[in-house]
Amino acid sequence: MRDLDTPVLDNHLHLDPDNARGIEAVKDFARSGGTHLLVVNKPSWHLGVEAETGEDFRAVFERTLEIVDQAAKVLRGTAWPVLGVHPGLISRLVDERGFTPEEARDLMCAGIDVAAEYAADGKAVALKSGRPHYDVSDAVWEASNDVLEHTLAKGAETNVAVQLHTEMTDDLTDVADWAEEQGLLPSASSNTTQSANSPASRRASCARRSIWRRPSRRRSSS
Ligand SMILES: [Zn+2]
Repeated sequence: MRDLDTPVLDNHLHLDPDNARGIEAVKDFARSGGTHLLVVNKPSWHLGVEAETGEDFRAVFERTLEIVDQAAKVLRGTAWPVLGVHPGLISRLVDERGFTPEEARDLMCAGIDVAAEYAADGKAVALKSGRPHYDVSDAVWEASNDVLEHTLAKGAETNVAVQLHTEMTDDLTDVADWAEEQGLLPSASSNTTQSANSPASRRASCARRSIWRRPSRRRSSS
């Protein structure tokens, strides 16, 4: 097992214990020197859940908590869960299951509400949302942005970060503006004023209000 003499975090990992390598992938990560993981739940349908209600996402979240516990035991550091609703679900609902974009939006928001319950109980360190990384109709894009905004509001309400899956872009200022409107402030790294760098405000920004964004890849499937 390589020891790089420093913590090494992967901030966005999906683990599929049923159809893929699951915990074996964590062992590889640890062998290469990895110490900490943020494990994001798999897209619900990858775990065999075709959600009809927000409550149906609970099985996905519970399965994720189980694999996070297992991962934590393998790592020298630890693993934390990030729970949410994969933005690609909207296409599955609209294109394959006959939902209108509005119905899909409501179901996804309901799933986010359940994820936020876990966050409020301290069982998840962040919520995951975003919008499709591929071309979609205006109605689906709008509904996706509604889900994203709802997640930002829930993140602010429960004092956790929001991790985003988005289209490939260098400019997410629209999302940053919505985040601020919902009460999530930009991360401490973008604060340059002295008061913003005081230890107390830095703690507040990092622990409760940072927005984590994953560089998206156009063809990423997760
Ligand atoms: Zn992902």
